[in-house]
Amino acid sequence: MIYLDNLTMVYDRHPAVHHVSAAVEEGDLLAIVGPNGAGKSTLLNALAGLAPIEEGNINGLNPSDVAYLPQQSQIDRSFPLTVAELVATGLWQCIGFHKAINQKQRNDCEKAIAAVGLQGFENRMLNSLSGGQMQRVLFARVLLQDRPVILLDEPFNAIDKKTVDDLTKVIYSWHQDRRTVVMVTHDLEYVRQHCPKTMLLARESIDFGNTKKVLTAQNISQAQRMFEAFDLSATCCNRAVI
Ligand code: ADP
Ligand code: MG
Repeated sequence: MIYLDNLTMVYDRHPAVHHVSAAVEEGDLLAIVGPNGAGKSTLLNALAGLAPIEEGNINGLNPSDVAYLPQQSQIDRSFPLTVAELVATGLWQCIGFHKAINQKQRNDCEKAIAAVGLQGFENRMLNSLSGGQMQRVLFARVLLQDRPVILLDEPFNAIDKKTVDDLTKVIYSWHQDRRTVVMVTHDLEYVRQHCPKTMLLARESIDFGNTKKVLTAQNISQAQRMFEAFDLSATCCNRAVI
């Protein structure tokens, strides 16, 4: 279980996520949805151990248990790396970044690349890939990382349908392995179809639990109102009044 207890995150003292409490069970496939700017990436960063927590706690989660796939906009694709080289960075935590990988690790790397349908692309430079192919590369790196908790930030934003379908199968395989998958997305149809649990976020958690219960028209419009009513210049964590 991962427990979020009254979690609050701020930027320059302005709250981006506040008073979020939830219990994520091992093996959950959880979507985090909400308006743009609602704090979804900030919350994911907190789970990844990448951002300081202002108030509250995350319990039951060690950063070394986590594989994290950032939003595509945060990735510099001009960096001169091949597909195989980027995927192999998934091993850095266990081998250190300056060491060569051994034969078994090389095979694991090839398997991960094949599992996302990129066999034959190993030596392609990242800047020659389409958005969908790049997302496949990032999924291959997560496969290679082989962690119990997987965090995905908008993995299917502006991605072609075939890639979404193929990578959804990879997500299902993680779910079947009883890994915990937390996925940020704004595609409510996708969530209704594929994610059993949802958190609806508008800086604070509007609702959390079974997707059907959470994604009601009433909750969704409440999230929008909460979000719009929130005072962006607030420097403390007072709740929005609606
Ligand atoms: P989402 O992923 O739901 O679109 P974010 O978590 O990226 O939202 O952002 C939540 C809020 O925090 C927004 O108001 C955003 O402008 C602000 N924010 C995000 N990152 C930073 C940052 N590095 N510095 C200052 N403010 C930020
Ligand atoms: Mg985001």
